[in-house]
Formats: sequence, structure tokens, C-alpha cells
Amino acid sequence: MQRAIVLGGSIAGLMAARVLSDHADEVVIIERDGLGPADAGRPGVPQIKQLHVVLEGGRLQMERWFPGLTAELIADGAVPSEGAAIEHYINGVRKVPVAEETTIGLTRPFLEGRIRGKVLDRGNVRLVTGLVRGLLFEHGRVSGARFAPRGPEGADAGADAKETETLTADLVVDATGRSSRVEHWLTDAGWQPPRLDRMRIDLRYTTALFERGDELPAVAVVQSLSTPAAPGTPQADNGVAAEVEGGRWMVVLSAYGQPPDRDADTFVKRVRETPGAPFAEIGRCRLDSDIETYQMADSRRRTFTGLDRFPAGLVVVGDAFASFNPVYGQGMSSAALHASCLSAYLRSDARLSEPAWGYFRRAEVIVDAAWGLSTLGDLAMPHVTGPYPRGYRLTNWYVGKLGLASMTDAEVNRRYLAVAHMREHPRVLTEPSTLWAVARTLRARRRAPAQAPAPAPAP
Ligand SMILES: Cc1cc2nc3c(=O)[nH]c(=O)nc-3n(C[C@H](O)[C@H](O)[C@H](O)COP(=O)(O)OP(=O)(O)OC[C@H]3O[C@@H](n4cnc5c(N)ncnc54)[C@H](O)[C@@H]3O)c2cc1C
Repeated sequence: MQRAIVLGGSIAGLMAARVLSDHADEVVIIERDGLGPADAGRPGVPQIKQLHVVLEGGRLQMERWFPGLTAELIADGAVPSEGAAIEHYINGVRKVPVAEETTIGLTRPFLEGRIRGKVLDRGNVRLVTGLVRGLLFEHGRVSGARFAPRGPEGADAGADAKETETLTADLVVDATGRSSRVEHWLTDAGWQPPRLDRMRIDLRYTTALFERGDELPAVAVVQSLSTPAAPGTPQADNGVAAEVEGGRWMVVLSAYGQPPDRDADTFVKRVRETPGAPFAEIGRCRLDSDIETYQMADSRRRTFTGLDRFPAGLVVVGDAFASFNPVYGQGMSSAALHASCLSAYLRSDARLSEPAWGYFRRAEVIVDAAWGLSTLGDLAMPHVTGPYPRGYRLTNWYVGKLGLASMTDAEVNRRYLAVAHMREHPRVLTEPSTLWAVARTLRARRRAPAQAPAPAPAP
């Protein structure tokens, strides 16, 4: 392949560019924000200041494409944690820790900056600052992209540029995020659009940093989830607190169906009241940042397989493919896994003159798994009204039992976390050995009710 173009230079675009650099003479990333400093926030990624958890499945893929990345991040301040230092609470009751669980705490700009540096260090990758306006089509395939060039710092410089330039390529990767215009670009050129499914969730996210002192020395990450409240009762916040670079706690709270609130006193009060003992203590630390909010109306996914006609020369990765409720932290890991699917496709004697079905089929396995897990949790919320997948009631019933068993049984919780961390396919949760472990744990709980806590019925 002579040239590949990647539209969008955030996590999904950078991971795809890394993979493509093994297959193309030249890889060009077209990014509207250019190389502006990510820490200052950038308009193309409005969620950049929210807490971003790196799931283990995603970290392993990132490490695959950038060997040594984890050690480098840790050497420069990211906070590794494992086992009992990671605390999960359901309705304020702590789940049994899993010795094998690991994660790293860091801010999203720090991670993105490191990955970007490594991608651009590859001799055949360059970044062009520009706003992509559409695709080029030729002889029944995508043959490049149209974009309005911008100044090197991105959005502000020349933002109103009217002129467009074109760049041709053998393969174009859409990594422009959840607001991708790929269906419009396709229909404008007479192609079928992918199916777009949305699940309305009305999620409000609020993040801030606190100074970390000597409180909670044995704790690095705390996650608190609350099951849906009874009608008329206030719903408790979900929360995650993670120690990140620079000796700080980064805390995110999420709630459904409420307006954004940037008031610092309100946020601190909410942190202190979040179920799970560590939140009260973290909420007493000194607030060290502004309060950043983000609202997400829906989870959404695009389905490409099953289309009668699709042009060759185009693949879609990351949030442009599927964007989930961030409470489950699946976005960056999905993007990393999509990059690995792209690699598997390109290594499988892919013919670039044909639609990239081999890529879409592989990536849809990832999307189905992540969508299934996150929407199952969302559908339990009273304000989420579907669409319900086939077999929802039975799945929901079983997940309730699994959640209960995972509170106290380390092996059940290990299997659940392997799926939640995107290291294992959800099918492991319905393997006979898991069903047996769940049944055995629940039977033991019934026999010894006094010893067991009474947690909520969901993971
Ligand atoms: C509130 C919130 C919290 C989240 N928390 C987590 C978490 O804990 N863990 C996790 O793994 N994920 C999380 N995510 C998801 C994560 O942010 C994304 O999955 C991740 O950024 C990868 O997305 P992406 O690269 O596909 O798209 P994005 O990050 O949205 O990037 C799209 C890129 O395309 C560029 N672009 C867009 N349009 C154009 C255009 N026309 N021309 C040129 N460039 C363009 C943008 O500037 C941007 O750089 C969260 C998301 C949200 C909203």
C-alpha cells in the first residue's frame, strides 16, 4: 500500500496509524486540532478532561503496539495498582478483591500525548492539521479525503478556511469519533449508510482533581456503582476515584437525567456522600482543579456487515464505530482492539480493491461484546426504555445472580472482571464452570445468611 489516511488523531486514529505504519509507505493523519497541547483541552475531544480508566484488555493491546509503554508511563508518574488496592463497591458494600486485577491511573491527555509522540516518531507517519469535509470516491471505491487545512495549532488558526485540499490514498480510516459523518459521506455519494443504533441514557459526568495526601495509603482506585433506586427515591451517584500522575486523586461522578452542575461545593458534597467508605475521605482532600462536566445523550453504534453495497478502501474505528456509556470505561480499549483487528485483516491477504468485510466482521465481535455489557447495565435504569435485545429478561436475571455471587466469590469476580476489563469474551460468563461457580456460591450464601453481606444484585 502506498498511502493510508487516518481521519482524526485521537486514541483510535493514533492506534490505527501505528498499525498502518507496518503496511503503508506513508500514513497521513488529518486532525482538526493539530498538535495543540492536549492538557489545555481541545475542542475535538470535549471529554478529554474527564477521568479515563484504562482497562487491562486495552492496556495489553497498547503495549503490543508500543512495547515498553506501560513502564514508561509509570516511570513518568502513572500509578500502577493491583489486587486489594483496587476497591469495588456495589451500593456501598465492598466486593471481594481479585489478586490478578491490575490497572494504571493517569490522565487522558498524558496517555494521548505519549501515544501520539510514539506514533509520530515512526518515520512514515505525519500529521496534517485540517478539518475533514468528505471522502473522495473513484471507480466504486473510496480513494481519499477532502479537508480544509488549518494552522498547526488546530481549531482557532484559519478555522473559517473555505478552501479544501484533497489527498488520495489506498485506504481511508474514519476515526473522527462518535459524531462521525460517515453515513452522510456515504449517502451523498450514492452508497448505503451503515445502520445507526442509539440507546438514550441521559448521562451527566463530572470530574475534578483533589490533592492526594497520606490518606488511604493502601488504596489506588475506588469504584462505586449503585443499582437503580426504587421509584420516588433519589438515585445515588456512581463514582470512580483513581490516583493519577502528580500525586492527585481524579474523581468522576456520574448521574442520569440531571442538569450539569459545576458548583465546587456541590461536587465535594456529592463526593463525600458517594457510597463506599473511601469517598468520604477523598472528598475531604483539597480540591485542585475546576469542575469539568460532560453530558452524553446516548450510546450509539454503527453496523456495517449486512450492507448490500459498501465501497472498498474504507474502514471505521473507535467511537465512530461504537460509543458506549463511559461508566464502563470501554472506549479506548475498544479503539486499541479495533487497531488489532485492522492488523489481523491487513495480514490476512486483504484485497484493498474489495470492501473491508474481513475487518468489519472482526471488529464487530469487539463491538457486540462491549455493547452487550454496557447496555445491559443501562437497560436496568428505569429511564432507559430500550431497545431491548432478544433474551433480555433471562440475561438480566442471570447477570443479577452473577453479580450477587461476584460480591463474595473471588473466582466468580475474577471471571466477571476479565470480561469487564475486555480481556475475555463475555461467553466465559455462561460457560458451565462459571454457571456452576455462581450456583455453588449462592447456595452457600443461602445456607449461611448471617455471614454474608446483603449486596445489590448486579456487578
Ligand atoms: C465523559 C467520557 C468519559 C470517558 N471515559 C472513558 C474511560 O474511562 N475509559 C475509556 O477507555 N474510554 C472512555 N471514554 C471514551 C473515550 O474518550 C473514547 O473512546 C476515546 O477517546 C477513543 O475515541 P476516538 O479516538 O474514536 O474518538 P475521539 O476521542 O472522540 O476523537 C475523535 C478525533 O477526531 C477528530 N476529528 C473529529 N472530526 C474531525 C474532522 N471532521 N476532521 C478532522 N479531525 C476530526 C477530533 O478532533 C478528535 O481528535 C469516555 C468518553 C466520555 C465521553
